[in-house]
Amino acid sequence: MVLETVQPLAAIATTPSAVNRLRALWETGLATLWVPSDWSDWSEVTAPGSLYRYSGSLRDALAARWAQYRGFVFCLATGAVVRLIAPLLHHKATDPAVVVVDGAGQFVISLCGGHQGGADSLARAVALQLGATPILTGAANQLGLPGIDVLGTPFGWQQGSGDWTGVSAAVARQDPVQVIQEAGSTLWQDHLPPDHRLQFGFPDSPPDTSPAAAKARLWISPIQRRFAPESDLPKAQWHPRVLWVGIGCERGTSRQLIEAAVQQACRSAHLAEAAIAGVATLDLKADEAGLLELCRDRGWPLRCFPATVLRSIPVPTPSEIVAAEVGTPSVAEAAAVLAATSNPQKPSTSMLRVPKQIVRQLDQPGAVTVAIAQAEREYTGRQGQLWLVGIGPGQLTQITPAAQTAITQADAVIGYGLYVELIRPLLRPGQIVEALPITQERQRAERAIDLATWGLTVAVISSGDCGIYGMAGLVFELLQAHDWNGEKPAVEVFPGITALQAAAARVGAPLMHDFCAISLSDLLTPWEVIERRLVAAAQADFVTALYNPRSQTRTQQIAIAQQIFLQHRAADTPVAIVKSAYRPDEQITLTTLADFLDTPIDMLTLVLIGNQSTRRFANHLITPRGYLGKEVR
Ligand code: SAH
Repeated sequence: MVLETVQPLAAIATTPSAVNRLRALWETGLATLWVPSDWSDWSEVTAPGSLYRYSGSLRDALAARWAQYRGFVFCLATGAVVRLIAPLLHHKATDPAVVVVDGAGQFVISLCGGHQGGADSLARAVALQLGATPILTGAANQLGLPGIDVLGTPFGWQQGSGDWTGVSAAVARQDPVQVIQEAGSTLWQDHLPPDHRLQFGFPDSPPDTSPAAAKARLWISPIQRRFAPESDLPKAQWHPRVLWVGIGCERGTSRQLIEAAVQQACRSAHLAEAAIAGVATLDLKADEAGLLELCRDRGWPLRCFPATVLRSIPVPTPSEIVAAEVGTPSVAEAAAVLAATSNPQKPSTSMLRVPKQIVRQLDQPGAVTVAIAQAEREYTGRQGQLWLVGIGPGQLTQITPAAQTAITQADAVIGYGLYVELIRPLLRPGQIVEALPITQERQRAERAIDLATWGLTVAVISSGDCGIYGMAGLVFELLQAHDWNGEKPAVEVFPGITALQAAAARVGAPLMHDFCAISLSDLLTPWEVIERRLVAAAQADFVTALYNPRSQTRTQQIAIAQQIFLQHRAADTPVAIVKSAYRPDEQITLTTLADFLDTPIDMLTLVLIGNQSTRRFANHLITPRGYLGKEVR
């Protein structure tokens, strides 16, 4: 679902015209509409689930429900909103997203919670829905940078200690800021604006005292660094969740003891607990109460492996006693390494950050063995999403607001280079944008599936409609081949205006009677099949749209198609040749079945062949449906 990070979302209106202004939000189920309960003549809002009628003052209603929502959209004077929310704000790390829409619906202001609350992103989305201008006043936006305090959010990184305000302020002043990344995805680095002032450094480089020396430092690391409070260089740290904690324990070991053992293991290697991805153990421990309780409370996934698998992992500290007891010489080390490895065929002990430690405490029952391994790729802890988005024929205004919202909200946007250029104005700072050549559909789909399975929200863009000779079918087919369960990653399809609709709209109303689409590309479909369909369409008198009519190497198919249609339709049947509909180099030619090969036709062209009743009138093609009586056959 789009805008998931600000759900539940409230859309607050105090006048009927404000309700209409926010209609796109509550009608689509994105927000609960708040209206005063004393509107007695109010009968228009019919979706009861998404309506909240507050009684008394809005101030009291807000105070009572503030904590239940993660986003608020007000259609109210900014001053009034500031006064209403001021007493409710605590800290930018926990405050919700607050956005204000002006009464005329021209502007959408990201008022509060811009970065971590998600208000900037919400303001962009609401602005797209309303056709308004988003107003984002955070410094990072103007610089085209992701906010320093949200750049790890797509990858599930945890914000660690430090002077986040100081580091963000240095970025805003455009001071050089040193970034030392020791772990986690570097994808965010690939899409920074060319004039950014981040300096990518190494932990052990000598101190730099030149004028360009960094004025702040950001660490991205599983290490828990302690920053001296008196330092005048602001520092902060992100922790990618790369650590897998392997645990073996006696039956009945308490949650407290397991937690203490994990803490001790982290401390011994200066590792941050926030960098823990999850816990791994032997399958016999899948019902160990203390372990389950700890994992539940800390939001750690628990991965369990059978002894037969664990025993194949080479470890530094095997134990014969353990082997005799449970059938593998190592539980903690082997499970940690196995959970951390991306290639189970080649587990490597070099991943082990903390070799096995055994922890007991006098006052606690049981004993725990802990080891920690570091994965190459972080665990995001997020449910990935794949959005298959149709971007229409090639003009921003021809993309549905829902598809536009999906594109701006996605963590990553993947598509053929030309289409990425078409939607570039919708992209936002910090987004991962991957443009791949036209021939690499399969690689594009595989990449999108990989990122979404990992936890990212990925928009795959296709021209026109993504499910009509587009990427949607391929993505679904590949997902199925990857043992997809139909839910993870979640898939949503956003329709777009397909080429045949776009071309038809440019020439009038040629699709008013039954029609069909046939692609002349025989790369994936045998030519006999295409030819059979051409014959059937021609015989059945369908208005016919020919996609992929001719490429540089594939030139004969369109001539054969013409011959087939000439056998069943008159030579003067109207034909439209529409090249690059809705793009700057659009060319439209109205011609006939006999002559249409005189017009240049290429891979950016759609050929539209009328049926026996289609006629030309001035610069238009009209296929009568029969309203006036005699025309339809
Ligand atoms: N998914 C796309 C179709 C992709 S197949 C859609 O729904 O429109 C590519 C073919 O679509 C091209 O060879 C051309 O025949 C047609 N096409 C796509 N965009 C077009 C446009 N803007 N104008 C004319 N034809 C177009």
